[in-house]
Amino acid sequence: MRPFKYSNATDVATATQQLAANPNARFLAGGTNLLDLMKEDVERPDELIDITRLNLTQIKSLSGGGLSIGGLGKNTDAANHPLVRQNYPLLTQAILAGASGQIRNMATNGGNLLQRTRCPYFYETSMPCNKREPGSGCGAREGINRMHAIFGWSDSCVAVYPSDMSVALAALDAIVRVRNAGGQERTIPFEDFHRLPGSTPEKDTNLEHGELIVAIELPKNNFAEKSYYLKVRDRASYAFALVSVAAALEMDGTRIKQSRIALGGVAHKPWRALKAEKMLVGKEATEANFVAAAAAEMADARPLEHNAFKVELGRRSIVRALQMALDGGKS
Ligand code: SF4
Repeated sequence: MRPFKYSNATDVATATQQLAANPNARFLAGGTNLLDLMKEDVERPDELIDITRLNLTQIKSLSGGGLSIGGLGKNTDAANHPLVRQNYPLLTQAILAGASGQIRNMATNGGNLLQRTRCPYFYETSMPCNKREPGSGCGAREGINRMHAIFGWSDSCVAVYPSDMSVALAALDAIVRVRNAGGQERTIPFEDFHRLPGSTPEKDTNLEHGELIVAIELPKNNFAEKSYYLKVRDRASYAFALVSVAAALEMDGTRIKQSRIALGGVAHKPWRALKAEKMLVGKEATEANFVAAAAAEMADARPLEHNAFKVELGRRSIVRALQMALDGGKS
């Protein structure tokens, strides 16, 4: 690991100002991804600003309904908080599907959103990678790309985004609240927080340098009774998703009043299945309608050489997640 300067921030203003002053500085929160990347020589910050002591851990109800989750709270605490379990069980399920208990105890909510891809070529510094070194090429495009994207990729990058938590947050229409070095706050709809790779795959998000995630806000909804997070992976524990689905339904009798579906493991960001969602509104919650919606969504997939299986896997996973959501996660 290369030498770096380390400091301990005591307040948000100092932390954001310090970061903004050095383009090569990074915030250090749980460190569960950043420190790995530094050890592998992928990330090379010359300054780490430790933000773990900042008072941004609270989970609290919002005045108009909804919930605010502190950016520096631990993943474990978010997953197990009574208000999250009661009103957003989809989020609890997604967080608990990710990583291991030890990692969730360290990882923060804001840090989870900022995880970088687990594309093996990104970690292997002897290989070309436009995300690690812009302009060097993409090892995965013509290489082994079984784990890679089937939606929204570009010739510059075919990586997928690894977070499970973010897939649920996308389905729940979360909002990311950030604060900059001048003390101004802005909110970023979750859909706009992560980016597709385009010609700038080195940029994972639309966060500006110097901005800190202070909270993640969840709007009030009626999905708690019927939601489900399905994660399909190569082994039962501690693996990233081949495909995952966050599904939520609001019913009006036997008809679907609203649906939310987001996919993980298929794109450079959580992939909202908007076509499928739209097809389900006003329809009976039948297997035939779930199958038709899933097929319509997956018809737009563009698989790579080694991951065509994800198209059928995605179609079946959407149907299964919707069935599980309809049954309240019990079937
Ligand atoms: Fe790098 Fe993206 Fe290509 Fe992986 S897919 S090698 S992260 S450019």
